[in-house]
This record gives sequence, C-alpha cells and structure tokens, in this order.
Amino acid sequence: MTRILITHVDVVTLDAAGTVLRDRSIAIDGNTIVAAGDIPIDFTPDRIINGYGQVALPGFVNAHCHSPMTYERGWAEDLPFPRWLNEKIWVAESALTSDDVYRGAALAACEMIRSGVVAFNDHYFYMDRVAEVVKKSGLKAGLTWCVFGLGDDREVGANLDGTLDFIDRWQGRANGRIKLLLGPHSPYICPPDFLARIAALAHARNLPIHLHVSESPEQVDNSLKAHGQTPIGHLASLGVFDGPCIAAHCLAVSDDDLDILARQHVTVAHTPITYMKLAMGVNDLSRFFARGINVAIGTDGPGSNADMDLPAAIRQTVILQKHEQRNPEAVPGDLALRMATQNGARAIGLERTGVIAPGYAADLILIDTDRPHFLPRHNLISSLVHCTKAADVTHVIVDGQLIYRKGELLTLDEDRIKYEAERGAFNMVSRAMQPVREYRG
Ligand SMILES: [Zn+2]
Repeated sequence: MTRILITHVDVVTLDAAGTVLRDRSIAIDGNTIVAAGDIPIDFTPDRIINGYGQVALPGFVNAHCHSPMTYERGWAEDLPFPRWLNEKIWVAESALTSDDVYRGAALAACEMIRSGVVAFNDHYFYMDRVAEVVKKSGLKAGLTWCVFGLGDDREVGANLDGTLDFIDRWQGRANGRIKLLLGPHSPYICPPDFLARIAALAHARNLPIHLHVSESPEQVDNSLKAHGQTPIGHLASLGVFDGPCIAAHCLAVSDDDLDILARQHVTVAHTPITYMKLAMGVNDLSRFFARGINVAIGTDGPGSNADMDLPAAIRQTVILQKHEQRNPEAVPGDLALRMATQNGARAIGLERTGVIAPGYAADLILIDTDRPHFLPRHNLISSLVHCTKAADVTHVIVDGQLIYRKGELLTLDEDRIKYEAERGAFNMVSRAMQPVREYRG
C-alpha cells in the first residue's frame, strides 16, 4: 500500500459545497484519499509530490467513447453521418481484428491519460483486448461489447452469449477497476425482441446497459413509423431503462422523452465535438438539467471527434450550450467539471470517484496552472473550464497509483504503442472491402 502526499496544492474538491482549498495537502493511502486540507500528524508518505503552482482536481471520466477507433482518426472526414458510417467506418471495421482493438485502445489510453482521464466508458468489439489495456494501464473503465442482434454472422467477435462470457471473465478483475455493461448498439439497429432480451438479462444479472439513443430527427421519424413510439419511448416500453443505463447522445428528444429519462434515472452521455464535427445539431441541456437528469461528458470515438481530449470536450460543452441557447449563463461555474468527473463515474458504478475528500477513491489529477494561458488566476474554476489544455496535466493518479508524471507514461510503452497502432491502422484499412452493415436512419 503506497502512501502519497501531495503538498502546496490548490484543491478543487468538487464536493457538494464546491469547496476550493488553497495551498494545502492531500494524503493518499493505498487506493483511498485519507485527508484533504489538514494532514494527520502521523501520516508518513512513501512519495511526496510538490504541488506548488498546480491544481488538484478529480480525474476526468470519459462517459462515452469507442477507444479502438483511434484507428479511424482522419479516415472518415467531411461526410454526413449516414455516409460516414456506411462508406467509411463500417467498411474499415470489416477488416477489424482483435489485435487491432488492443493496439487502438492502447493508443487511446496513452492519449486519454495525457488529458487527465482516470476512467473511460467504452463501447466496441473484442473487449477482452480493451480490458487487457485497462489492466496494464492502471486506468478504470466501464466496458461494453457492442452487439446488434441481427444474426450471429453479423456480430463482431461475439454474439450476446459471447459477451456474457466476456463479462464473466472480467467481472471483478484488475482490482475492481473494470466495470461491465451490456451493449446493444441502438434502437435503430437492434430488433425489439433482442432489446427486450438484453433488458431482462441486465435486470437478472444486475448489469447496466450502454447504447446509442436518438441521434437525429430521422431516427425519431423512423421509430414512430416502425414502433409508434419515439426511440426513448420504445426503449422504455421494452424495459431497457428499468435498471442503470447510459444513453449516448439523446439529441432529438421530446419533453415526454426527457420525463422518461428523468423518471428512469438514465444517464445521458454528451459528446459535443462529434455533434459539431458531423453537423448533427445539439440538444438544449437546460431541459435535461431542469429535470435533474444525470448528464456526463464524453469524447465519442476518434473516428468522429478526431481526438480523445477531455478538457476540449468540457470547454466545447460549455461554449456550445451558451452559443446555441444564446444564453451566456448556460452551464455555469463548475457544472461542466462535475459532468466530466462525478456524473460519468456514477453512471459506470464508480461511486467513490469524482470528489477529492477523505474516503473517496484516489482518482485525481494535477494541472499546472503556472502557465501564460491561465494567468492571472482571477477565477480558478472558469480557468479550469476554459483554459485547460491536455498538455497542462502533470500527474494522473488512479486507484492510488501514479500512472503519469510530467510527460511520462509510467505503465505503458508509448513509443511501441504509437508505432504498432499506426502500422496496424494502415494495414486494416488496406484490407477493408465491404461495409459490415447498413445504416438507414
Ligand atoms: Zn458513440
């Protein structure tokens, strides 16, 4: 059990009162924060980190991503969403192997750690390989093996039973740093009986569900035609929201839809850079906040966002809402920081992540604010929201383990990962021939 003492640091605790401590200390014992502010006189650290000029913040939680899609960064540019999927993404994925998933996720892990991420909620294929990356990197993660329910020959690497085996293999592994979820792709791909079966399984096995929901008005129209209900109404009637659920996007939503999401305690993962880059439009988050819906922030996959930079997604969340709602008071104060930390953590079952206070998990980062773009520090919270760059992150601690220090990844061989991922990505797209499925909205 390593004991870490961080000294002379400003601490943005993100506790309920929004407490900010100035020039104080944080004590970590094993995987838990044991003190923030005053340190017990008998605390004897194994390692001391001088936090002078830095801010300690709960580490970021990427609430929705497809980490192996680093392989498709820059591969599907300047296209509308249906063509992006049908002509590029699902063509490349026809050649996807489990080794590609490992290499792509490892590259994503390097990038995410560098941007202050302590946990990510991932939705993809061959998830054993992502779990290996999580185990090795020291990160925490919610892992979902995406399934379609269109016949076993259309699944990627496993059918639903296969993904349950994956869950059994990894449940409780990596010192409990891995959480497992069930992953139907979406209501626009998955047949209703398949969604109902997953809902029943989730309930029986106490597993959360993670899926894509209501990304466009076309999806809503198609759902109304096919099922007589909106995508959210349809999912609710099938029982998908009866247990914990993370619904990515929810861009086209009615007031009734929002009432369902609130009543069923669904978490909405918000990925603003994808929305802007794919010109999908954006939802008015004030409607979600007004109902108390838990909204968290993600990067989505690098095939759509292009990167996995959480500070960028935080800033864009705030700026996009202010701009779109023509309301400079939208998403004020530390709200976006809470969305990008504790809201996402809660959604994937990391209940003790997202606050710097005694008893919470030691999942935190240090940000160097002694840099020109932070000065003068009139308003620390606003500076963290609007001025932080990934490169300002100096230390990342997950479960009490220091995994990143001043430019150096301490658990991953970054040079090797970069080399293998780029070669693997070039190789994969050169093998790609056919789309693996078709998006019709
Ligand atoms: Zn997604």
